[in-house]
Amino acid sequence: MTLNTKTLLFFSALMGLLVLVLAAISLYSFRQFSLYTAEHHARSVAETIKVGLTENMVNGTIGKRPQFLDRLAGVPGVQNVRIIRGPAVVKQFGPGLAQERPADGIETQVVNYGKASFDVLEKEDASIFRAIIPYVATDHGTPNCLQCHAVSNGTILGAVSIDIPLSDVKRQAITATAMVSLSVFLAALLALLLLRWQLRPLVETAGAVKAVVTQAIGGAFHGRIEQRTSDEVGEIAVQLNRLMAFLDEGIGTIGRRVSELMGHHQQPLNTGNQLVTTTEMVEGLVEVSRYKQAIEEDQTKLEVYQRLVNVLGDKYDFHRFSIYEVASSKNRMTPIAVDGEIGAPCRWCDSQILIDANTCRVKRTGHEVNGIDSPGICTMFRGENGGEKHLHLCLPITQSGSVGSVVQIVVSPDEAQFATMLTPFIAVYLRETAPVLEAKRLMEHLRESSLRDAMTGLYNRRFLEEYVTTLVATSQRRQSPFSVLMLDLDYFKQVNDTFGHEAGDKVLKTLAETLVKSVRTSDMVIRYGGEEFLIVLLDTGAEIAMDIAEKIRAKVEGTKVSLPGTMLQKTISIGVSEFPSDTDTFWQVVKFADVALYEAKSQGRNRVIRFIPSMWTTETGKL
Ligand code: GH3
Ligand code: MG
Ligand code: MG
Repeated sequence: MTLNTKTLLFFSALMGLLVLVLAAISLYSFRQFSLYTAEHHARSVAETIKVGLTENMVNGTIGKRPQFLDRLAGVPGVQNVRIIRGPAVVKQFGPGLAQERPADGIETQVVNYGKASFDVLEKEDASIFRAIIPYVATDHGTPNCLQCHAVSNGTILGAVSIDIPLSDVKRQAITATAMVSLSVFLAALLALLLLRWQLRPLVETAGAVKAVVTQAIGGAFHGRIEQRTSDEVGEIAVQLNRLMAFLDEGIGTIGRRVSELMGHHQQPLNTGNQLVTTTEMVEGLVEVSRYKQAIEEDQTKLEVYQRLVNVLGDKYDFHRFSIYEVASSKNRMTPIAVDGEIGAPCRWCDSQILIDANTCRVKRTGHEVNGIDSPGICTMFRGENGGEKHLHLCLPITQSGSVGSVVQIVVSPDEAQFATMLTPFIAVYLRETAPVLEAKRLMEHLRESSLRDAMTGLYNRRFLEEYVTTLVATSQRRQSPFSVLMLDLDYFKQVNDTFGHEAGDKVLKTLAETLVKSVRTSDMVIRYGGEEFLIVLLDTGAEIAMDIAEKIRAKVEGTKVSLPGTMLQKTISIGVSEFPSDTDTFWQVVKFADVALYEAKSQGRNRVIRFIPSMWTTETGKL
């Protein structure tokens, strides 16, 4: 219900009630007033009759009282007058005339008990005020009652019944009440019109406020309202306009800034409502910021990838998406996660991309490759799966200007629109992921290089130190021994001395290659010192280790290193020990292998010696 209608109804009801109350009060007052006047009128007439009757008695003309009463009944304002004879008078003078007997119970009551009765009789065409007033004998005044009546003072002599017509008074009362009511009604009507006129700016302003606020809830803040007055209502308009301008500008600015942060993509999830759109974008940015903090605190690259997988799989509910990493040195692509599964093999692309990263269009161009908008754009995409066609959207994760990883989202044609709509949000995640991934990559690279020997590419002693706990724990858990070979080139110093340091380096590199080729990939070849090497043979007892060591020795002996102008052949001495049968302390096993190596050197070099406890003398222990 509008304010206008409500005001109209309220005031109409109020005025109606006022008119009714006024009319009721007026009618009641008129009635009371006319009853009061009629009673007084009746009492005056009763006194007049009493005087007239007394005169008749004194003059001896009491017999003519009917004529007197008839004449009195003709007086205006009096309709009917009757005398009723009381019991004392009947006793003294007889019953009198027929009309002088009590006509009903009320008259009998009045003449018996002396209490006046006043009553209004509603007849068909008229209202009559009927007064029955008793005459009581008194002994004072001249003449007094007791002079003629043989009664005592206070005896009820009789009563007079007077009918006074009220119709005229009633008509006048109704007319007056109608006039009052009409006047009040007209005044109320005028007041209502005035009020409406006064309320008009308020009602119109309220309507305009409603319209502008409704627009604002719908996300449009350009609405303004007209200032109709200079009072408080006008002030509402001014302040609301200021608020709208503030919101319009503020939310517009926030929207633009947020949109800039989202990478200038203007494809909000909810189109049309500026506020909802901005809120969604801000919430999106907050989530991205939490994501960024989480990945920054992650330890490994894989953890970062896992978090990205969670965003794509859990947050955006994609089921078929993959992440490929470009191995920088080898220009190959490695699948990190395929269809959300870490370590799964390549599924939606030709496996050629795993060999040559440049066959991946995103890697080559550095741009998004959108197979939804341009189906068939990438020849490497294999979208046919079980007869169902799929579309792809591949996005780069760009690190230092080149593509470090590629995210591929595969959708059915039904899901294509949804994927397109989410692209800007995913792009923001990828943009935040890129530098963190690069930092992690660099760290892993640094860590890797700190664990490797630059010249030979073998693990170094630091790696062994870090790895030893895992090595021992694994061996103990699996109750499987491992052997340690300690190797040292024989008379290596001579190489340096005779052919120079570079030739020495070449010999060392060749030896490293020979060693790596001689053992399984699960075994570890470590450059332990200058020309000392250590090999850990996993799940291998000393007996087999001796055979392997012998093969290594023979292979080294047979390897020729070509140097400018000559060919060089070197020999190697090897000491062998076993964990845990020799000792269950890793570094002691290493020491024992070293002791055995020393023994090999002592026995003339170019041989393999198994450690035996007798080699561990007080003297060797000091070495
Ligand atoms: P032995 O049979 O007793 O082992 O005799 P050796 O001459 O090999 O003696 P030793 O093992 O003590 O010699 C170590 C030499 O290895 C000393 C050093 O010049 C050389 N060397 C250590 N590291 C390198 C390296 O990185 N490059 C080159 N060229 N030489 C190295
Ligand atoms: Mg040495
Ligand atoms: Mg040596």
